Amino acid sequence: MERVYIGLGSNLADPAEQLRNAVQALAQLPDSELAGVSAFYQSDSLLPGQPRYTNAVAAIDSRLPPLELLDALQRIELDQGRERHERWGPRTLDLDILLFGDRLIDEPRLKVPHYHMQARAFVLYPLAELAPADLQLADGRSLQELLAECPFVGVERLAP
Ligand code: ATP
Ligand code: MG
Ligand code: MG
Repeated sequence: MERVYIGLGSNLADPAEQLRNAVQALAQLPDSELAGVSAFYQSDSLLPGQPRYTNAVAAIDSRLPPLELLDALQRIELDQGRERHERWGPRTLDLDILLFGDRLIDEPRLKVPHYHMQARAFVLYPLAELAPADLQLADGRSLQELLAECPFVGVERLAP
């Protein structure tokens, strides 16, 4: 089993409910066990004119190969009505693989650690709720280092 951290995000059609449904779906993944879910966090969209986002991070322990897990996550996105129009458009559900054990993955369809996680408070702070304090990313950076460079600004932690 490898520990995988997944970033969840939604800003359409009752985002908190989308995230709760997604957690249920993650708990049903084959060859995998749900290991934890962070609190939910709200923040304004990085792009103007979109509804506020709700985000969380989930931890699973999985035997699935990374691309099979990505396929399964994309099926869950589609099941929950994800439509891709413009890049970074509003969405009912986004499921991103943040970290996959200690793997560095550089495939056309899958880059791990997730490219944008270091700049995103709505990813790093929920991740820090679940991950060991001394977590090292496969590329050598430490979670503490990323947190120190990403202030908790513009993000609201919702009561669980
Ligand atoms: P961002 O990557 O900035 O969070 P996004 O999540 O909105 O943007 P999507 O439209 O969900 O982007 O995904 C675009 C493509 O990114 C997917 O088709 C997928 O193949 C690819 N991708 C690459 N690395 C990852 C990853 N670590 N997790 C999920 N998808 C990934
Ligand atoms: Mg994303
Ligand atoms: Mg995505």
